[in-house]
Amino acid sequence: MPDFVIPPPAQAAVPVAGGGLFPVRRIFCVGRNYAEHAREMGGNPEREAPFFFTKPADAVVTGGADTPYPPATSNLHHEMELVVAIGTGGAGIAPEAALPHVWGYAAGIDMTRRDLQNEAKKTARPWDMSKGFDHSAPIGEILPAARVHDPARGRIELRVNAAVRQSSDLSQMIWSVAETVACLSGLVTLAPGDLIFTGTPEGVAAVVRGDVLEGSIEGVGTVSTRIV
Ligand code: MN
Repeated sequence: MPDFVIPPPAQAAVPVAGGGLFPVRRIFCVGRNYAEHAREMGGNPEREAPFFFTKPADAVVTGGADTPYPPATSNLHHEMELVVAIGTGGAGIAPEAALPHVWGYAAGIDMTRRDLQNEAKKTARPWDMSKGFDHSAPIGEILPAARVHDPARGRIELRVNAAVRQSSDLSQMIWSVAETVACLSGLVTLAPGDLIFTGTPEGVAAVVRGDVLEGSIEGVGTVSTRIV
């Protein structure tokens, strides 16, 4: 037993469809990976290479648990996303060689304090506190890659209180899963346990306490949480 001076933190983990837990090492997220969302955020989808930000591993909210409304915001947004779970690490991975590094896929929600993010953009400050706060990553069960027919297409949808807020298709992603894994592996050495949130389609909007969020990705799975 190592000589820790305080108890070591619990290992963050996400349940796997069919049983078992996927241990989470780090959470990476892609910014603006759907053209219509890039436009709704005032960006130009034609000219932007993928860029990344992070959340702490223990930001995951699993098993349909409630998501506490975070402090310091009055504009908490949902961003429905396909999540990639890395099973085999590596650096400098070529796009053609990227998919075997993926252990599985899940449906997740990149919760965002939009007011803090807008302020950060305006003042050229970091996004950390607008993206990487406690409970900012609700996620459903991870489906092993062997059971995912095609991560490049399929309906991605988010309903809030049963009303459809976001509805698109994975085929609308600007950067494919393979390209995203390859690009990120050129910036950091990917490791088993890393999650990558691959960006959200258009239709992001605010939620309030009491809202029930239900997301689904065709062929991958679902995610659900209630804001409390
Ligand atoms: Mn996002």
